[in-house]
Amino acid sequence: MKQFKKTVLKNIIMVLTALVLVLSPISYPHFTIRSFAENKPVIVVIDPGHGGGGNANLGAVYNALTEKDLTLQLARALKAELDRYDNVSVILTRTEDTPLTLEQRAVFAKENNADFLFSIHFNASPIKNEHIFYGSEVWTSAFSPYYQKGYDFGQLVMGEWNGLGLYQKGVKTRIGKKGDDYYGIIRQSVKRNIPCVILEHAYLDCTTDASVLKTAGFIEKLAVADATAMAKYFKLRSPSGADYSGFTYTNTLYPAGNLYQDVTGPDVCSAKVLAADPARGNILVELTTSDKQSPVIYFSYSYDGGNTFSPLQMWDRTKNTQSFNVVVPPKTVNPKIVVRSYNNYEQMSESNLVDVTGIF
Ligand SMILES: [Zn+2]
Repeated sequence: MKQFKKTVLKNIIMVLTALVLVLSPISYPHFTIRSFAENKPVIVVIDPGHGGGGNANLGAVYNALTEKDLTLQLARALKAELDRYDNVSVILTRTEDTPLTLEQRAVFAKENNADFLFSIHFNASPIKNEHIFYGSEVWTSAFSPYYQKGYDFGQLVMGEWNGLGLYQKGVKTRIGKKGDDYYGIIRQSVKRNIPCVILEHAYLDCTTDASVLKTAGFIEKLAVADATAMAKYFKLRSPSGADYSGFTYTNTLYPAGNLYQDVTGPDVCSAKVLAADPARGNILVELTTSDKQSPVIYFSYSYDGGNTFSPLQMWDRTKNTQSFNVVVPPKTVNPKIVVRSYNNYEQMSESNLVDVTGIF
């Protein structure tokens, strides 16, 4: 009704303006009437993951960090940051420690005519992986056109996170047993025609990320990063400075092949010893690794034949072969090199064993 009145009023003003312009001999100062489409605000729903009173739905809890609290803290800061832009309406699915099902969150977004639902999370490795992973990742729908929207936004937000020193694992999709999106919040949103991404900012269970998250003001920096990516995606402008109204990005095409998740490790994982210097305890190792399906993002090495491995190292994903130095502690007898490489679905392959006993 309000809308209708507005339109009628607008039409009357337009007719009167036209009459004045036609009848009047004098010139008028230049002004621009923005179209309704331009004035229609973008509606962004921010979903702080998990939550519920007391110990309900805590999410990941490690290193004195609790996911449900961090997601709320970040979501509030993100709203404050994004509210600085014009033409955007930012709504949170929860503003307190309130229990909500995934379906309720998507229904809420629908009721508010959301243009996009951003679900805020922090990560943790599966227990069997011993808390070794670190970095950021984005999950999106495997189905068009939600896939493209999530992927486009994912590229933008990863650019911002990378600027904060977080390691970027990529934008991923995962399909469940029934053939639809595995993650409930994505599935429930897509069902209601709302694009949705899960933003896994960093791992709470790995000190590489946890120590960064604990630095003063880091959550606020993440909020600025998320808000900047959203402002770029929706081409927003802030009266206080930032203007992304002319921002462009490459629109993602839907891949020709299916988008099923990668369930196998890198196809190639082959280790070679290039040189050994027993006096200094150094072994120069060359690793050749690649995966047709997903990028290789981490590697680790062992000098005791695979009993113990180094923390995960970052792999330069633009290369298939790289060499690195393995420092072997003094008095190590019969070192044997084994290398592991991981793709961005955390699927691992283990190399051949290289026995350096004779030369070390
Ligand atoms: Zn979570």
